[in-house]
Amino acid sequence: MPATFVKSERLRQLPPYLFAEIDRKKKAAIAAGRDVINLGVGDPDTPTPEVIVRSLQRHVENPSYHQYALDQGSPELRRSIASFFSRRYGVDPDPEGEILPTIGSKEALAHFPLAVVDPGDVGLVPDPGYPVYRSSVRFAGGEAFVMPLRPDLGFRPDLDAVPADIWKRAKLMFLNYPNNPTAGSADLAFFERVVDLAREHGFVVAQDAAYGEVYFDAPPPSILQVPGAKDVAVEFHSLSKTFNMTGWRVGFAVGGAPLIAALAQVKANADSGIFTAVQMAAVTALDQYETITPPIRTLYKERRDVLVTGLKKLGWDVPTPEATFYVWIPCPAGYDSSSTCSKLLEEAALVTTPGLGFGQSGDGFFRMALTVDSPRLEEAVDRISKLSF
Ligand SMILES: *Cc1c(COP(=O)(O)O)cnc(C)c1O
Repeated sequence: MPATFVKSERLRQLPPYLFAEIDRKKKAAIAAGRDVINLGVGDPDTPTPEVIVRSLQRHVENPSYHQYALDQGSPELRRSIASFFSRRYGVDPDPEGEILPTIGSKEALAHFPLAVVDPGDVGLVPDPGYPVYRSSVRFAGGEAFVMPLRPDLGFRPDLDAVPADIWKRAKLMFLNYPNNPTAGSADLAFFERVVDLAREHGFVVAQDAAYGEVYFDAPPPSILQVPGAKDVAVEFHSLSKTFNMTGWRVGFAVGGAPLIAALAQVKANADSGIFTAVQMAAVTALDQYETITPPIRTLYKERRDVLVTGLKKLGWDVPTPEATFYVWIPCPAGYDSSSTCSKLLEEAALVTTPGLGFGQSGDGFFRMALTVDSPRLEEAVDRISKLSF
């Protein structure tokens, strides 16, 4: 027996954590007393709206909520989600079977491949993309097939470029629209095409809609608006960005009953539900979505305009995002994403995220998050104006 601990093969297979180096440099800059502006984090900087906090405070007093929550989520929350879905998307999922509250959407996205992927199967993942998609496919024993998101296709994958033998082995496709990190969006026609392919080749679609309510133009569609989509697709929603609730850990999955039951079966073997007081606060949030979320959108829109207008004035080629709170910017000539972000940190004390951290196809871009206030964004633009790229 070897005395030293050796990590599992599945952990050793994961790519190195590319944000570690930038995090080290950021901490060094702060320790050196520099006035660092952090445009790196995808976490709302403003607090959870008071009406939601008050709701939690009331419900936390109820002793019946202090025990294990029901695996399938509280009936009140499932009904609230159904009503929200109907109001927002015109789709009516059945609260008994087609809706599952989750501990944030990350947890559910990470567990879902265990319900649909076997060793040797293929899971298609967008690149650049949230790292969870790739690691969860691998944790399930699957092989991740990378779909580059094409700037010329509005950051959608070229579905015609997927080889026939990959379609044959595919059991799962992750999608994420509105998209982090590219801010790209999908229309209903794209989702229709995906649903057709899923039926034809027999795979399941996991559409991550974490930014579905963070939009500045036309409301983005749900894949479940495609007739019959629930047979082949599950959509993952989150209260994190919609209601400034990242720390609360609450989201939900919507889809056909067999798919939702499969996810619930995995989760029943991994967790014991969401604190019921948090579920009741989520009811408050969803029931008042139409009044709570618009000011959150307005705030990001103002910040977006400050940053995008400012950078454009400096001659930067910056697309204006229509959704999400990210600005995805092509690197200046002669720079890749790592050297761009290093220069911004070293010479301007700005933390940004290199596109390479989201996958190879992200390398020509870097990401700025609109999670600091407008005066700080103006200050960031001012600092960039003094750099020579
Ligand atoms: C923030 C984010 C989520 C949401 O995570 P939660 O676990 O719900 O807080 C999911 N997907 C992407 C791409 C995100 O950026």
